[in-house]
Amino acid sequence: MDGPPRSSRSRLARYHFLERITLRGMDVARVADVHTGRRQEAIRAPVKHPLELTILRCGLLDADRSVIHPGDDSHKRVLLPVPAFLLRGERTVLVDTGLPPPAAGNPHGLEESYGTDPAWIRPMVGEDERIDRQIGRLGLRIEDIDLVIGTHFHFDHAGGNALFAGKVPVAVQEAELAAARESDGYMPIWDAPELRFEVVHGDWSPMPGVEMLFTPGHSAGHQSILLRLQDGAWLFTIDSVYTEEHWRQNELGAVTDVSAARDSLQRLRDIAARESARVIFGHDIGQWESLGMAEGESSVSFR
Ligand SMILES: [Zn+2]
Repeated sequence: MDGPPRSSRSRLARYHFLERITLRGMDVARVADVHTGRRQEAIRAPVKHPLELTILRCGLLDADRSVIHPGDDSHKRVLLPVPAFLLRGERTVLVDTGLPPPAAGNPHGLEESYGTDPAWIRPMVGEDERIDRQIGRLGLRIEDIDLVIGTHFHFDHAGGNALFAGKVPVAVQEAELAAARESDGYMPIWDAPELRFEVVHGDWSPMPGVEMLFTPGHSAGHQSILLRLQDGAWLFTIDSVYTEEHWRQNELGAVTDVSAARDSLQRLRDIAARESARVIFGHDIGQWESLGMAEGESSVSFR
């Protein structure tokens, strides 16, 4: 007697469920073969809310090269773009809030308000590059944002947090909030009366297609972002990797914890390889322009 064909049950048992992801606009289950470890994808259905990424221009920093290459004593100047990211899908999420409003339209704004040294870093931010103006250009008010995510609370990432006080919560890693409260390495711009924090721990996801990765090292509770757009995966290193040059040379930038920063960098490399991701660096002016953010362009969107 012939034996029955391999039942679907036994075929299913060969696979171990890994995660649900978005791939080319489809909701996909990613599984692994329990024997070989090989990954496979099983399509489920079209995604209801395809994710849209908008990169927002929040000004530039004119900085001494040592700011991004610690120990460099050439005193050359570098231009660093300051981005924020609007993610529209199942919810409307803003990642980072740009430079502090006193810097907008005033290259001496940081010096005057916070005593920073312009020889070290000088902001170049137009009035209309404040985060509220930037989302306003896209037809959104502060209250239209469901959630703000702080990748970390340095002044070029959390400068506009106060604009969201009493209106929109700010999600932040517990370690980052503790560090910002305790350390003098943070300008007092990340907090404001009535600003509500949603404290998160480790990797998490605010909505389908968006994975926040806990990548400490640059700061105590730094986060990077993995997006799954219809055209594939995008990995935003944020300040774990400042530029393509750092990535190529496996060079760390300014860090508070060298061994954590090394681990985070390796983790980002592994994820980039696994996902065949497009890698976007934290402050890379060349890449910024190649993304369509040449002079005069205030935002650019991808799906
Ligand atoms: Zn930064």
